[in-house]
Amino acid sequence: MIKFEFDCLTEGCDSEVRFSQEGALGDKEIVCPGCGRTYSLPPELREKVRLLDGLIRDLRRARPILGRTSVVIDLEGHQVKIPYYLLLTRLTSELALDLEGEDLKLRCLATPFSGENGAVELDIGKK
Ligand SMILES: [Zn+2]
Repeated sequence: MIKFEFDCLTEGCDSEVRFSQEGALGDKEIVCPGCGRTYSLPPELREKVRLLDGLIRDLRRARPILGRTSVVIDLEGHQVKIPYYLLLTRLTSELALDLEGEDLKLRCLATPFSGENGAVELDIGKK
């Protein structure tokens, strides 16, 4: 289950509010552990969370082939091969959202190539 978090929007509360895509789509309310404020994501935000969740899952599923694919760029007459996975590790997992007029920066706690603890787990195989 991929977890997401954002900083609570209540002034003076510096808690991080965590939830999963499944939780946000279900009946469960998203509750701040610090101040108890409840959040409910409107349908358009749920859809964005669902898309980000799906993108990360798809990239993880494609991991076995990503180590063997690359992008070739021409750099001053030399062709340089950049492995796809290297580009994708630079993909930000932060999504800027607008929740009832407030800026909400949603972070995904797992990047496409990391586990829950953020450690990169990538098997690019041997050539
Ligand atoms: Zn709070």
